[in-house]
Amino acid sequence: MFKFDHFFIDLVQVLGCEARRLAVGTAHTAMIDITDVCNLRCPHCYYFHKLRDLAQEPAAEVWEERFRGLYRDGVRIVLLLGGEPALRQDVLWRADKVFPFVDVCTNGTVKIPTWFRHRIFLSLDGGPEMHDALRGKGVFSRVMDNYRGDPRVLIHMMLGKANYKDLETLVRTARENGLRGLCCSLYSPVQGEEDPLMLSPDQRRAVLDEIRRVRSLFPGVVRMSDRVLAWYVAEHDIRSCYLGRSVLHYDVSWRKRLCAGQANCAQCGCLSGAIGSPIQKLFHPREALQALQNLGMTQLNNGPEKGVQSLSANI
Ligand code: SF4
Ligand code: SF4
Repeated sequence: MFKFDHFFIDLVQVLGCEARRLAVGTAHTAMIDITDVCNLRCPHCYYFHKLRDLAQEPAAEVWEERFRGLYRDGVRIVLLLGGEPALRQDVLWRADKVFPFVDVCTNGTVKIPTWFRHRIFLSLDGGPEMHDALRGKGVFSRVMDNYRGDPRVLIHMMLGKANYKDLETLVRTARENGLRGLCCSLYSPVQGEEDPLMLSPDQRRAVLDEIRRVRSLFPGVVRMSDRVLAWYVAEHDIRSCYLGRSVLHYDVSWRKRLCAGQANCAQCGCLSGAIGSPIQKLFHPREALQALQNLGMTQLNNGPEKGVQSLSANI
């Protein structure tokens, strides 16, 4: 049996944060680039043009100070991004010490040790062939060697023109490797840039249909609710979007910016934008049920100790 008490404690904490935000306007969530460095060079990456040496990046002590400042200001939930955050395990360690809820997005090529007992979003672009075609030969098997059967992992697949038909293959391969949950973003172009990978409205609809089809084959594995899918076809702007309006965004140099989705709201396919506020989930019982399944999966695998903590247990 998984531990309902942990789930409810987490849920109450998250809802408490959201209630306080609504009452006094204090942000509780921050999305932070903890490094600009990455060991891969994916064609769809917007970090290509601003890579720098790891040695030039802020020291772990600087990060801890920043994190403690955020905590004092009311932040309890952080999503750590990059570059490749697993290259800064010293920073992950500091975040783990400060915040109750930490999510991290990784390409999976460098294993995050098991002391990190939070959710890991593992970026995979398709089954082994597709993933290696986009990220380099042998990368898929390297990632599986690191994370096979890891209860912290939720796969994150970015669906674009080139790879969306590989969703089913990825789900099947992931299940064979003991990874049971998957969520998706749609490819989002960078604002102001002509982008050949951009999805047309028809292609966007085709991608959403494919998510629905694969979800029907693997209910409970593809964690994309109808509410989230509907968000991708609605119109957004930064004022109406929870992620743009209510979540803090910082780059490595600790500059605030508009949104981790590059604030290209018209073509945004960002999962975090689509998920929205924690309180919305209360009105969607199927999502809440999936959250319970998700948490059950992680806590079963973690034995009697405290389970994986994450806001993304809501996905
Ligand atoms: S792994 Fe992520 S950060 Fe690194 S190049 Fe690929 S998309 Fe960019
Ligand atoms: S880019 Fe996307 S996630 Fe960011 S504010 Fe706009 S709609 Fe929201």
